[in-house]
Amino acid sequence: MNDFLTPQAKQFLSQSIPQFINGTWINSESGKTTDVIDPSSGSKIATVSSGDAQDVNLAVVTADKAFKNWSALSPAERAQYLNRLADKLESESETLAQLEALDVGKAFVNADGFDIPFGIECVRYYADLAVNADYGKTLDLKDMDARVHRAPYGVCGFIFPWNFPFDLLMWNVIPALAAGNTVVIKPAELTPLTTLYVCKLAEEVGIPAGVINVVVGAGRAVGTPLIEHPKTRRISFTGSSGVGKQIASMCGQRPIPCKLELGGKGAAVIFDDADIDNAVEQLAGAITLNTGQVCCTATRWLIHENIYDQFVEKVTTKLKSTVIGPGIDPKTEMGPVVSQAQQNTVLEYLDKGLTEGAVEVLAGGKVSVNGHDGGYYVSPYLLTGSPNNICFKEEIFGPAAFLVKFKTEGEALELVNSLEYGLANSVFSRDIERCNRVAEQMIAGNSWINAHNVFAYGLPYGGINMSGVGGGVNSPETFYDYLRELTIARPLG
Ligand code: NAD
Repeated sequence: MNDFLTPQAKQFLSQSIPQFINGTWINSESGKTTDVIDPSSGSKIATVSSGDAQDVNLAVVTADKAFKNWSALSPAERAQYLNRLADKLESESETLAQLEALDVGKAFVNADGFDIPFGIECVRYYADLAVNADYGKTLDLKDMDARVHRAPYGVCGFIFPWNFPFDLLMWNVIPALAAGNTVVIKPAELTPLTTLYVCKLAEEVGIPAGVINVVVGAGRAVGTPLIEHPKTRRISFTGSSGVGKQIASMCGQRPIPCKLELGGKGAAVIFDDADIDNAVEQLAGAITLNTGQVCCTATRWLIHENIYDQFVEKVTTKLKSTVIGPGIDPKTEMGPVVSQAQQNTVLEYLDKGLTEGAVEVLAGGKVSVNGHDGGYYVSPYLLTGSPNNICFKEEIFGPAAFLVKFKTEGEALELVNSLEYGLANSVFSRDIERCNRVAEQMIAGNSWINAHNVFAYGLPYGGINMSGVGGGVNSPETFYDYLRELTIARPLG
């Protein structure tokens, strides 16, 4: 592994990494640490401090103090800090991509080609937006001088999953900072490395102490006290639907606003007039990207009966040629899944799916990679059969998809909308009118046409029903989510 790493990455990983609170690196009050494991080999990459409620309290109190000065800056001054951070992130993008690949197990080509540059673009997007945003508006009311004033909340808490640590950090935290809030971040305990490295870079570009704070640790030990702290003014949670419901209920007790970005079980509908090669490329990519550990990806493939055999032949050929290996290796196209537990989950789903009567279209499962015996590798698997199967209905979060043949548009739409998830789906056809009609009838936050996993700043991304609530990310609305509204009114005459 060391052969590939930049000197900065080697240096960062060479010592125990403390928490980042009030602009300083301090060990947790309890002195506890946790090992960060390389999913490509099963060996330890780093040791990080592991916090609890005492550390959260320090972080939130610190962030609350820092809020006074940070919120008093002009949007242009905050944008200057953020643009300096973006420059710094860019200059260290290779190190960031390596840390992300090492920590999550994701292919370096993806981390370097997408995750890191796209995350950096987010910083510049919200820096610009903050300068041009509307911090109030006049209300045209009879006999009244009235207006809406928008101001930041104060301390915003963030709880993240392990699959896209860098991008999720940027998509969620940057708009909050740009709007003038200070932040306390709980990264996933499995993958905290790029979040901590970003703190190091934020420190180097002079982002004031206390504006960004990170406490690493388990959900109940760190996430719960962060939500319950009286000075935490809002929460953004990204993670599974099950934990999301608990988070919503905890936020409801306070009560504080809560943005939830949750799980998914996306469908792709492939009509018989689709560009099959494109659909194959997009959908094979959908389950190999990040080893299928992508909330919005397409894992239910609904294929018109006229092209089913042709599609299956092409997609299985494509998937069989996927280069599986350690994430950090630039030749790898698909890395391992993130942990032993996740590997077990993905394999258990395969067993349960088969037990419930599914048939293998492509046999996959546990594989070993030469020289990396301890890694958590799974090769892609495709199942087919009745949609009343656990693998059609539940989020597997691995390189797997369930295929179902359909005859009519109505039948396909019924299958798409048969689950409580509502994150993202796609439709493939050369008939764009049909694509738009089908896209509109999909019950979800996002419908994509002739592509899957489509992201851009300015294109709102979020889920509904079991996939999320509270506004989503990546759009101007996300920025305004981090400003509270106050009306000011004076009766006239
Ligand atoms: P998870 O729900 O198990 O954990 C997410 C975070 O919540 C972790 O930091 C965890 O420590 C914390 N947590 C767990 N229990 C908690 C509690 N009781 N109180 C406070 N915090 C708690 O999810 P995961 O396994 O880390 O990530 C995978 C899930 O994330 C998938 O379901 C995936 O679809 C979802 N996800 C959604 C999006 C989106 O944008 N919609 C993006 C990425 C991932």
